[in-house]
Amino acid sequence: MSIVVTKFGGSSLCDAARFQNVASILRADSSRRYVIPSAPGKRFDDDDKVTDLLYRCHALAAGGEDFDEPFGRIAERFAGIAQALSLPDGWQAELDAVRQRIPMEETPDYTASRGEYLCGRLLAAYLGWDFIDAADVIFFDENGRLDAEKTNAVCAQTLAEHEFAVIPGFYGSMPDGRIHTFSRGGSDVSGAIVARAVLASLYENWTDVPGFLMADPRIVENPRLISSLTYRELRELSYMGASVLHEDAVFPVRKAGIPVNIRSTVHPEHPGTRIVPRADTVDATITGIAGHKGFSVITVEKAMMNAEVGFGRRVLQAVEEQGICFEHMPSGIDTLCVVLDQKQLAGRQEQLVRRIVELTEPDSVEVHENLALIATVGRGMVRQRGTSARLFGALMHAGVNVRMIDQGSSELNIIVGVDTADFETAVRAIYRAFVE
Ligand code: ASP
Repeated sequence: MSIVVTKFGGSSLCDAARFQNVASILRADSSRRYVIPSAPGKRFDDDDKVTDLLYRCHALAAGGEDFDEPFGRIAERFAGIAQALSLPDGWQAELDAVRQRIPMEETPDYTASRGEYLCGRLLAAYLGWDFIDAADVIFFDENGRLDAEKTNAVCAQTLAEHEFAVIPGFYGSMPDGRIHTFSRGGSDVSGAIVARAVLASLYENWTDVPGFLMADPRIVENPRLISSLTYRELRELSYMGASVLHEDAVFPVRKAGIPVNIRSTVHPEHPGTRIVPRADTVDATITGIAGHKGFSVITVEKAMMNAEVGFGRRVLQAVEEQGICFEHMPSGIDTLCVVLDQKQLAGRQEQLVRRIVELTEPDSVEVHENLALIATVGRGMVRQRGTSARLFGALMHAGVNVRMIDQGSSELNIIVGVDTADFETAVRAIYRAFVE
């Protein structure tokens, strides 16, 4: 029988009523056999996430200060959930043990991970499912990088012995047994790892949003939901700033060809967004629009640069020497541009320009700041005539000047660079041209 792995985000486990929702979702389908919980999130706008409170406990304890206040609030949240669900008291002893250990920890990882750990304990007790400590099945190497193969082997072997189990998200263990966490939002990665290990037919990622939206709702009013997208489209949109799923969560499931379904706990009847290895159907020309501000472009000009062997390498060498990653490199006949992240460039710009001049003896080097990049992504654009005309027409009508264009030959996306001040106008114009 097929296995579905489910991950529930913090907002889906923020109080006892949400625990009940989660249980009814799990019980609605017996193929949902493994569940990965986050730590309880916010119940209302200015509430705190348990994970944030835990980081605060660590910071206070590390400074030799008392951490009773944040810890008391964490204890209260778990006690509230346990009481409302009439769970036995056993987990109280766990909480005391955590409290004692916090001041002994050098790094915040152990402390931060306890939100998921305790949440997992409560959820397992409530569901009557087995609890598997992530420290026993998810492993990192000495450098804190996931040991994917060992993890996969141990996870597969362990889970085969449990029909229904709760495995807390966000953490695992180092070779010396210490707890180590992924970066924030990392329960998505834990879920993907478990899905790969049990060869799940589907990885359901339950959250508080209806799915992946075609554009940022803070810019476009009521953007449409994307019903399906491919892993490659997801990568392009995430790179440009669309965030629903942790970036590292893609690799394990993509490797195993397992589809991901983003679902909303608030609207479990809604099918959400499916992320699939390949899509045979195309719903629309474009799948989504994403972008962000904060780029600079360095334009190097030199007549006959095309005839000079190693020109591009020398420009990139200068960038590399400054320890900066380059984002894009559009080029013209006698010009080559390097698009860089403004934050990485800060404090290094003068030195970088000087090195480019030394290494390439150009006719000119100019730096333009305040560039925003917008990616219009869609598998439906491939071999479709007129897509770029539509896009650039929309920008022209909106009065937006395009400062840079970059279309990969995969035809999966068109990236345009515009002035930061035009960013929102441009996103809305593109959305309107393709969607409305
Ligand atoms: N609880 C952790 C965080 O707040 C991990 C997660 O929710 O995925 O980042």
